[in-house]
Amino acid sequence: MPFRLEIVTAERQVYADDVDMVLAPGADGQLGILPRHAPLFTLLTAGPLVIRKGGQETAIALSGGFMEVLHNRVTVMADAAEHAEEIDEARALAAVERARERIQHRTADMDLERAQADMRRAVARLAVMERRRRRPVDRGARPGGGPS
Ligand code: ATP
Repeated sequence: MPFRLEIVTAERQVYADDVDMVLAPGADGQLGILPRHAPLFTLLTAGPLVIRKGGQETAIALSGGFMEVLHNRVTVMADAAEHAEEIDEARALAAVERARERIQHRTADMDLERAQADMRRAVARLAVMERRRRRPVDRGARPGGGPS
């Protein structure tokens, strides 16, 4: 029995479909969501969000946000979210390099935390691309259901 998953940012709807399972990057660890999950409202961190649907897995890069589970419907409100094919690899690699530099040359704890958060977002994007490379048949469902 599938359930509804919607991923939105302030700008757009990134994903909307019926799915079998969601693995989300919870602030306190991975959260596995199956049908009929108890109501939940929780903070997400940057990481890949994995969707299982009809025996196929799709990953979306999330930059943190919130997740609500209610009435067999999961809503993810993300700071930013990208399908694998939307990710600019060179940009993510540059972000990792920039964050690495700033972690090495930090002058305050705040700088360290920000650089680590930047690093997590970039690493999440690279992980989603890497997954896609290993599973080239993956196709993310998009609003409207048209081809990507
Ligand atoms: P950068 O340091 O490269 O700007 P960032 O992690 O600071 O990246 P965000 O603030 O998370 O970027 O996102 C800003 C916007 O840019 C969002 O719309 C996000 O989807 C998009 N974005 C960020 N990095 C990438 C990327 N590597 N590929 C595609 N879109 C990206």
